[in-house]
Amino acid sequence: MNTVPGTLYIVSAPSGAGKTSLVKALLDASPNVRVSVSHTTRAMRPGEVDGTNYHFVDRETFLEMLAHNDFLEHAEVFGNLYGTSLKALARTLDEGHDLILEIDWQGAQQVRKLLPDAKSIFILPPSREALRQRLTNRGQDSDDIIDGRMREAVSEMAHYVEYDYLVINDDFAHALEDLKAIFRANWLGQSTQNRRHAALLENLLG
Ligand code: 5GP
Repeated sequence: MNTVPGTLYIVSAPSGAGKTSLVKALLDASPNVRVSVSHTTRAMRPGEVDGTNYHFVDRETFLEMLAHNDFLEHAEVFGNLYGTSLKALARTLDEGHDLILEIDWQGAQQVRKLLPDAKSIFILPPSREALRQRLTNRGQDSDDIIDGRMREAVSEMAHYVEYDYLVINDDFAHALEDLKAIFRANWLGQSTQNRRHAALLENLLG
């Protein structure tokens, strides 16, 4: 069978917008969608699993990979390096799966230049207050730390205009439906459907 290559999706959001939970729920509901596991030099957080959340590597290993052109894109975010390795990417798309890159705006700009057919989605919180609330770590962080996180979130959000789609995560279930709708509409695009249903179209028109 002639497999139609999958679509590459970029999903970005400020931290606190609920991106990771939304992408996870989308993956659970969409057997054809995969997510890319990035490499990072940041320390593992409690509950994270190496190879599942990220490939956790030291700076030296990351820089070596960079020198070998192993990354499609990379960026420094809050003092840590992050990158999407090329290895799994082409294989996943060639197998016909859609692939999500959960990356920041800097990586998104690099991917758009290299792969202009990639679709990009930006997830926004419903309000400044809701975002601040989500960035507040059970009252354990000082106002200064929370203010810093808010500034970082605002500088990420300033790039929303570069994205194809905007999803507002007010109600989780609703935001998930919005995400699913984007994937479904792209799946039905004429050029991919044309290839997927070549035999039907030949039969109908022949
Ligand atoms: P966190 O450390 O909280 O998981 O992620 C911090 C930021 O880095 C988020 O904005 C996330 O989207 C971004 N990020 C994660 N992986 C990559 C990657 O491979 N490339 C780029 N450019 N950004 C990434």
